[in-house]
Amino acid sequence: MSKPFLPFALPELGDEEIAEVVDTLRSGWVTTGPKAKRFEQAFVEFLGDASLEVIAVNSATAGLHLALEALGIGPGDEVITTTLTFTSTAEVVRYLGADVVLVDVDQATLQIDPRAIEAAVTPRTKAIVPVHYAGLAADMGAILAIARRHGLKVVEDAAHALPATCGGALVGTLASDACVFSFYANKTMTTGEGGMLVTRDAALARRAKVMRLHGMSRDAFDRYSAKVPSWAYEIVAPGFKYNLTDIAAAIGLHQLKRLEGFARRRAVIAARYDEAFADLPLVAPPPPAPGERHAWHLYVVRLMDAAPLARDRFIERLFDEGIGCSVHFIPLHLHPYWRDRYALRPEQFPHAQHAYERMLTLPLYTRMSDADVERVIETVRRLLLAPA
Ligand SMILES: *Cc1c(COP(=O)(O)O)cnc(C)c1O
Repeated sequence: MSKPFLPFALPELGDEEIAEVVDTLRSGWVTTGPKAKRFEQAFVEFLGDASLEVIAVNSATAGLHLALEALGIGPGDEVITTTLTFTSTAEVVRYLGADVVLVDVDQATLQIDPRAIEAAVTPRTKAIVPVHYAGLAADMGAILAIARRHGLKVVEDAAHALPATCGGALVGTLASDACVFSFYANKTMTTGEGGMLVTRDAALARRAKVMRLHGMSRDAFDRYSAKVPSWAYEIVAPGFKYNLTDIAAAIGLHQLKRLEGFARRRAVIAARYDEAFADLPLVAPPPPAPGERHAWHLYVVRLMDAAPLARDRFIERLFDEGIGCSVHFIPLHLHPYWRDRYALRPEQFPHAQHAYERMLTLPLYTRMSDADVERVIETVRRLLLAPA
């Protein structure tokens, strides 16, 4: 009698992606090659700005690491980011031996708070890593102004933000030093695992391309496709293994073509949720400013104290009803590593802590049918209006 379980997230992969992967497998070239190049070109076209350099990588985590490495972040340096993020955003700073300075979010938007950034700047600060949380752009005007004032670099964690806008411009085309997208399985488009580093800084791009593949002066496809004998290469640095395979790029080529449709469907579901939950004791996600675009990666609600159920119980009841949901995120300051490394206390992050205790993320993805959406709505309304 019980309905099938509605997962929290599912990728939408169709016949085109499958055929392109099969074509890649049959081609004999399965690692980084012609399709990764085509995917990079298509990504620049999508962003609509030919002055951008894009570097396909095997995760957003890799892209963030490469960007900060290329900017010269290292021991003794501090990088400021939000506590309300996934650990990737911060761990890459530790890979480089630099220190993470976590700051609180704005209470209304849950985006990194520019005032908290300003207050956290020290003589050691080298960079800011804003996260476009949930797919809504962070306050980049204020963040870039702080960066200019203090001579700091800005690397955007845009894992949630394809396609979002800020000041009418697509995230990825803003005046930061670098911007990194994720194509992880549950993001707004996927390559299974993958990411894209975007930059206007030619030196950053050069360094990141070399470090993406072992610190090699020429990649394997360049050598393979050359018309003259070309076995030679030089190792110029101890690089990483962060290249995106052609198998993954094959998926990405078609996901990118479908992205506009995906984004529209996500916005329709978000609008339907907004409308259906307006009278419930919950705080709906902050809408984008007029004229701006929200990528709607996550639909995060916060239960009001007047709600008849606390957050944990509400999630349990939704699971009992066959509806998957999640929490984005357990703030970094609560995780043992970050808490203990920097002696962090919840009182230092009152807004993120308050939001975390009340938040959950409802299912929102393109494979949800209208009936799935209505089922989530009916269940949420029943639990919050007439708890058992
Ligand atoms: C998913 C995510 C990442 C990491 O993306 P990967 O491609 O899995 O490395 C980084 N930051 C945020 C905010 C994320 O949600």
